[in-house]
Amino acid sequence: MTTPTATTGLIFNEPLLWEKSRDGRCGLSIPTSDVPSSPLDATLTTGGPNLPQLSEVDVTRHYTRLSQWNFGVDSGMYPLGSCTMKYNPKTNEVQAARPGFTTAHPMAAEQLTQGAMELMYNLEQDLGEITGMDAVTLQPAAGAHGELTGMLVIHAFHAKNGKQRSKIIIPDTAHGTNPASASLCGYESINIKSGENGILTPEAVAAVMDEDTAGIMITNPNTLGLFEENIQEIADIVHAKGGLVYGDGANMNAIMGIVQPGKIGIDVIHLNLHKTFSTPHGGGGPGSGPIGVVSKLAPFLPSPRISKTDKGYSWQFDCPDTIGRMLTFHGHFGILVRAYAYIRTMGKGLKLASQLAVLNANYIKAELRDTLALAYDRPCMHECVFSDKNQQPYHVTTLDMAKRLMDYGFHPPTVYFPLVVQGAIMIEPTETESKETIDEFIQAFKDIAKEAEETPELLQTAPNLPKVKRMDEVAAARKPCLCG
Ligand SMILES: *Cc1c(COP(=O)(O)O)cnc(C)c1O
Repeated sequence: MTTPTATTGLIFNEPLLWEKSRDGRCGLSIPTSDVPSSPLDATLTTGGPNLPQLSEVDVTRHYTRLSQWNFGVDSGMYPLGSCTMKYNPKTNEVQAARPGFTTAHPMAAEQLTQGAMELMYNLEQDLGEITGMDAVTLQPAAGAHGELTGMLVIHAFHAKNGKQRSKIIIPDTAHGTNPASASLCGYESINIKSGENGILTPEAVAAVMDEDTAGIMITNPNTLGLFEENIQEIADIVHAKGGLVYGDGANMNAIMGIVQPGKIGIDVIHLNLHKTFSTPHGGGGPGSGPIGVVSKLAPFLPSPRISKTDKGYSWQFDCPDTIGRMLTFHGHFGILVRAYAYIRTMGKGLKLASQLAVLNANYIKAELRDTLALAYDRPCMHECVFSDKNQQPYHVTTLDMAKRLMDYGFHPPTVYFPLVVQGAIMIEPTETESKETIDEFIQAFKDIAKEAEETPELLQTAPNLPKVKRMDEVAAARKPCLCG
């Protein structure tokens, strides 16, 4: 057994700030006044907010202690499949915090925001290069918002061509947000099954593709962490009937610098800057989900568009076929700065990042294949999927093993997703973990599998070390207690 990285350590109980409040305690010193005092208007002195009265050290310790109850990519490995929880270099935070960027106002005149606009223009170009797409918009606020934008573009394209269509094909290996985005646009999702090896067959697509189908939404690499190898043939089938191919590119971390989706038949793609391009995420945001499109779809992109002329950068509002605005302003700018800084500092190294992400996932797959049941025995991309089949005889489930991992100091992987694998355990190590950390993670899983055989109760009650023990997840979802 390895020494667990996790420990109960010095994790303090922490009351609410109001409970720590003492009348008259204060966190700041105001210089004595050197002007005559003047009585306050009586209406201003009554009531007032019920704020806690605390010293600076009370407040500093309160928030520092609370932060220690938490777990993030800055504290340890966070192998959450389909989320690309990789370490985000701090230099990108520094760039995004520059006052010129943080104080820029989205309604400031073009002459005063040329630098910010240049950054956005260049980022559009870079993302276009990475995805192989002809035009990019930075407006969408998250991945699913990018999907909705892409679906609206597809909808506008068919409308412009004179005949709207009613259906979208969605395979069972697509991300759950895909059918939701299609439905929001009024399309009916036609679900199709992936083949035995976990990827989509051209036959399955050909069987349902018709002239009332607007297109297909394919997550590639798919939610099993597998590359859809038949993508070009599938795109040909869809295009032949006048449909369009939407590529969910949230998993771009596996293929940067290796595959340009625009060159293999994808017409629209979204990226998750808050997964692949250096914005820390989790807890609901903020995010950024730019989309790229092939040239025939560019006129439908959200307005305004940035254009570059001899005189500099300007916002172009005159876009007659646009689907309109998808966000009040121009996108989540701070995230765009991080992505730009990341792309520019990495340069050609983006390809190596993807290669290492894939190598790390395949290494874990190879090292754990005798411990956990492998869902699909073929090379994976950036994530590998196992199940709890081997542990079922001991009445140990995926959930039990995931909870136990916390006692070993690791954030659990994604569990019970994708739905096509029963009891799925989906591990995405990303490129930013060292071999030593990955080896510790592998060893932890091996130790846990041994415990499953010998002391299953240890897993069934896990986690035992963290501040918060096993939660009643049904009650947490049905009767959330959100205040104290
Ligand atoms: C995360 C993810 C999404 C959704 O992105 P959000 O920013 O959470 O809306 C869509 N597709 C895939 C494959 C993803 O991994």
